[in-house]
Amino acid sequence: MNYLRITILLTIFSFAFGCKKDDSFKPSSGYIEPVDFLSDKKYKMLIVEINYVQGYMPTKETVDNIVNFLSTRLNKPKGIKVTMKSIPSPRKSSFSYSDVVYLEKMHRKHFPLGDILTAHILFLDAGYIQDTDNTKYLGIAYGTTSIAIFQKTVSDYSGGITQPTNEVLETTIVNHEFGHVLGLVNNGTSMQTNHQDNDHGHHCDNDECLMYYAMETTDIVGNLVGGNIPGLDQNCITDLKNNGGK
Ligand SMILES: [Zn+2]
Ligand SMILES: [Zn+2]
Repeated sequence: MNYLRITILLTIFSFAFGCKKDDSFKPSSGYIEPVDFLSDKKYKMLIVEINYVQGYMPTKETVDNIVNFLSTRLNKPKGIKVTMKSIPSPRKSSFSYSDVVYLEKMHRKHFPLGDILTAHILFLDAGYIQDTDNTKYLGIAYGTTSIAIFQKTVSDYSGGITQPTNEVLETTIVNHEFGHVLGLVNNGTSMQTNHQDNDHGHHCDNDECLMYYAMETTDIVGNLVGGNIPGLDQNCITDLKNNGGK
C-alpha cells in the first residue's frame, strides 16, 4: 500500500519534471550518491547490469564505449564490469515511469554490496509515455543507480543512410543518462561555475556538451550523423573532478 502510494506520487512527479532525476527517491539501492560512483572511498568496483528486451540488445561497440566513458571519469581501481541478459517483452506500446520502476524490480539482480557498486540499465522495446510526434525520449535516468533506454526509438532513429549509426546514438544516450547518475548538472554534483540551463532542468548550457538537454531526445539525431559521439565539456568535467571523479 505504502509502495503503491509512493509510486503514484512519483508518477505525478515525473510527469511534472520529465527526465530529471528525483533526489528524494532512492528506488532500490539504498542511499547511493553521485560521489559513490565518482570516488573510490566506499566503492572500488562497478557492475553495470544490462537487461534488454529480446531483439533490443545494444551493440558490442556501445558497451565498450560506455565502459570507456565510465573508466575515464570514475575512480574504480577494481574495475568496471558489464553483465548482459535478455528479458521477455513487457508487451507495452509505451512505458511510464512506474512501468520502468516495476520492470527493474522484476529483473534487477545486482545491488550495491561491500565495495561493489552497481547500476542497472533497461533496454526497452517501445517509447516513453511522454513522447510527442515531434520529440521522443531516447532514455531517462529515473533513480540514483537506474537508467532506462527506449531502444525501439533509438533503433528507429539510427542505422539508416541519413541517420547516425546505432553505436553513436546508443552511446550518446547511455552516456548522457550516466551523466545524470553522476549528478550532472547541479543535481548531486555541485557546479564550480554556473553552467546550468535553467529552462531545461539539470542540463548543461553548452549545446555541444553531452549534458545538453537535446541529447536526450530525437531532437539531437540530425547533429550526430557526422559520427562523433558528444563528450562532456570542461565545466561538466570540472564538476565531476570536484566530487571525487577524474
Ligand atoms: Zn538529460
Ligand atoms: Zn557540460
